Amino acid sequence: MKKASIKSEDYQKYYQQLILKRIGISGQKKIFRAKVLVIGAGGLGCPLILYLAYSGIGNLGIADHDKIELSNLSRQILFTKKDIGKYKVLVSKKIIKRINRKINIKVFKQKVDKKNIKKIAKNYEIICDGTDNFKSRFLINDYCMKNKKILISSAINKFDGQLFTFNFKRKTPCFRCFIPKAPNEELNCESDGIMTTLAGIAGSLQANEVIKSVLNIRNSLNGNIMIFNALNSNFRKVKLLKNPNCKNNHLHV
Ligand SMILES: [Zn+2]
Repeated sequence: MKKASIKSEDYQKYYQQLILKRIGISGQKKIFRAKVLVIGAGGLGCPLILYLAYSGIGNLGIADHDKIELSNLSRQILFTKKDIGKYKVLVSKKIIKRINRKINIKVFKQKVDKKNIKKIAKNYEIICDGTDNFKSRFLINDYCMKNKKILISSAINKFDGQLFTFNFKRKTPCFRCFIPKAPNEELNCESDGIMTTLAGIAGSLQANEVIKSVLNIRNSLNGNIMIFNALNSNFRKVKLLKNPNCKNNHLHV
């Protein structure tokens, strides 16, 4: 078998990661080849995008239609005050290129909806949901399930976070099995509040799930939810069961 090789600069840059037996040069090359889409460049998306770029992810898409506001700056760590009024995706691209000039980055200055999701997501294998509303979450879940993508999703509120990995290439429950329909009064971080460090923890955990999926490391989170609380540092994994009443009808998948 041919031994995997890597450019000298990359070898030095990713040395600490690629000397790990579970990763190695071949794993690092898988990371270079990976195609990951991040939907939402907010509190979750910022740390997620940063860690993906620092890990060496080779192909990154970012979709977000929002402009940067002062109230974002307490947790959206790609942005500073001089960026207020600019599009999040454009500022993100500029910063990410500085961190990893080899990255193939494509930005979508659009709100992901029923009409455009196929076009935006089709070239990516792993989709990360960092949106803040149930309409987008359901749309992304249904798209990923139908198209057998890997969905890595996180949600945060106050001091609590949730993390999901759904590998729809295999039989797995989906987000709708957990939450069949949006609560009447949708939870959102503007009305409920959110702890700054919680966004960093959740976004970093999402990035970690991406790397594990790229490396094809047996994922014990697949089909489970990780529920964590930033105040009591409690992390627990809960098995997610297929809901017989799920709209996505898992019996036929
Ligand atoms: Zn389901």
